[in-house]
Amino acid sequence: MKGEMKREISPLEVAIQQLDIAAEMLNLEPGICMVLKKPKRSLIVSVPIKRDNGEIEVYTGFRVQHNDARGPYKGGIRYHPDITLEEVTALAMWMTWKCAVVEIPYGGAKGGVKCNPKELSMNELERLTRRYTTMILNIIGPYQDVPAPDVYTDAQTMAWIMDTYSQIKGYMVPEVVTGKPLYLEGSEGREAATARGLVYCVNEAAKYLGMRLKGATVAVQGFGKVGWNAARFLYNQGLKIIGVSDSKGGVYNPDGINPYKLRKHKLETGSVIDFEGCKNITNKELLELECDILIPAAIENQITERNADNINAKMVAEGANGPTTPEASRILTERGIFVIPDILANAGGVTVSYFEWVQNLHREHWSEEEVNRKLKAKMVKGFRDVYNMARKHETDMRTSALMLAVDRVAKALISLGLWP
Ligand code: GLU
Repeated sequence: MKGEMKREISPLEVAIQQLDIAAEMLNLEPGICMVLKKPKRSLIVSVPIKRDNGEIEVYTGFRVQHNDARGPYKGGIRYHPDITLEEVTALAMWMTWKCAVVEIPYGGAKGGVKCNPKELSMNELERLTRRYTTMILNIIGPYQDVPAPDVYTDAQTMAWIMDTYSQIKGYMVPEVVTGKPLYLEGSEGREAATARGLVYCVNEAAKYLGMRLKGATVAVQGFGKVGWNAARFLYNQGLKIIGVSDSKGGVYNPDGINPYKLRKHKLETGSVIDFEGCKNITNKELLELECDILIPAAIENQITERNADNINAKMVAEGANGPTTPEASRILTERGIFVIPDILANAGGVTVSYFEWVQNLHREHWSEEEVNRKLKAKMVKGFRDVYNMARKHETDMRTSALMLAVDRVAKALISLGLWP
């Protein structure tokens, strides 16, 4: 990067700026704000594994526990080549707020291993996951810290974590981790829960804004668990998916894209690009498409002050964590774009994780219909709380969601007090 160019803001700086904004609006005691700015515990581990060729490779892993005033730490584990401690710390803080927004009794944590999972075989991924689990084993547990899937981890990863933890304890402990396979005490509806929750939010927002959803155009950045499921739910509801992208690039078709066919194409070719009937576009172009609803569902820092002026959507529903910087957020609000912020829009995943944990603790299995009904109730209540708070304080949805969350966590912290 050139010296004179403005350095890009990091996710942790974003998270801290957001906290400052909420703290000021709430008139939060500076001491409490100081406590909330730092994670309670950060663990860095070196994870050696034997590659399939017999050589040893050492990966760096993290688990950051931000706050547990409202309940056990909760948050996913991601595998990504660019992960840093600071990024995981920001993601942990966002988990604290997210759980508070939808009122589930958890704090916030996040984990990650710096690796490129696309270059690792299944056996290598298994060894990496098991070794990483043993290295964070002392700080996780059903009442302590409950991991879940995130970027490039899935139900299989969770099964390995559950097995490793259980083997060492000497008995099966399904409630140590959520997002497990269905036949291993996973919950119905968990896999698509983040996207489903986001779609509930979009529907609520449309009601308040008087937006007609049938035929409304949608652009989706990211075609993983969140982007793909959101695209198919909205498509099934009669919306028109006009653009989709993944890490390799995007595709555009103003007449609409069938997400099921696109999914098949991605599974066959490894990317959404070169899909029949579509024009290839870049990720940048995808974000700037003229559409009714833009869904960033990839990673952080996608909508920044560099492109916020070019966003051409009426509504932005954040499937990813931290896709928008505070400055960009301010620009979007100023331009009258309605933003459903990440800590609300993507809270459906951790909500069904909570349902999974409750089912595990009670040795129960709920039907998908029951899970989705309970998820809808949580998301609709969360949306309304945030919306009403925004109106009351004449602010945007993000500031309102942060205020709601920070206030709930701060109240818990203050009542618990400091000990010793
Ligand atoms: N990784 C998801 C998130 O960022 C889910 C976390 C969880 O279920 O604990 O919200």
